[in-house]
Amino acid sequence: MQLALPRYYARRLWRAVIEFELLEEGDRVLVGFSGGKDSSFLLYALRVLQENSPFRFELGAVHVDLGFDTPSDVPLLEDYCRQLDVPLIVQETQIAEIALHRRRENPCSSCAYFRRAVVNQTAAAHRYNKVAYAHHHDDAVETFLMSQLYSGRLQTFLPKSYLEKTNVTVIRPLVYLREREIKEFIETLPYKPMPSPCPMQGRTHRHKVKDLIEGLTRENPFVYTNLAAAMREDPAAELWPRAAGREEMRKKHRRIMRPAAGDDDPQSE
Ligand code: SF4
Repeated sequence: MQLALPRYYARRLWRAVIEFELLEEGDRVLVGFSGGKDSSFLLYALRVLQENSPFRFELGAVHVDLGFDTPSDVPLLEDYCRQLDVPLIVQETQIAEIALHRRRENPCSSCAYFRRAVVNQTAAAHRYNKVAYAHHHDDAVETFLMSQLYSGRLQTFLPKSYLEKTNVTVIRPLVYLREREIKEFIETLPYKPMPSPCPMQGRTHRHKVKDLIEGLTRENPFVYTNLAAAMREDPAAELWPRAAGREEMRKKHRRIMRPAAGDDDPQSE
């Protein structure tokens, strides 16, 4: 397979690599490869970077078969990795059974948790020091809004994070690429990404949030970029202070109210 990326894509990838210090000399990088469009693009893109990099790093891929009724098309994945000259490890699991049937409350979060654990453990077992995931810019913005709506937290995933437990660093080199850009490029390759066998596809919180952002962005084209801007650390952000604990409130209440009321019950405020 010919290895080349349009200049726009290469610039976005190198920007992420340099800004967040994602890659360095001697890295062994294991790519989480589901076989879908995003991770197929990531594998291809990292091969292109590897060919053009001024420093040397190694690449491998791991596919976690989640154990859905429709099994992964392993020969297709092996063929793609062979064409890219990247060694592939396939891990068979029963994650679908656990996430969809035994923990039905929030199947996606259980599924993602167990899948990440398998990838990170595989990396540690095969002496990879980094794990690369194919999360792109749209994923980051959607996660940012999802966290607020469903977890009450102002957060998204980081472009780079160190996992002490497995001594592995997680990197996300696609954070400066939009989903539609990845889709457009992957359609030019002689490879059809593997369709997801998951019955939850299209019915997740992520899909709801994606539709919400798309709808709002149609009404106001700045909605997406405003959300993206709000993801950045900002010392001038005007957020409420963290909620005071019960004991802290009791002390404050005593300090402020005792002279006047002598009432130390914080619930009375
Ligand atoms: S959509 Fe399916 S494969 Fe993806 S995280 Fe949810 S349960 Fe897992």
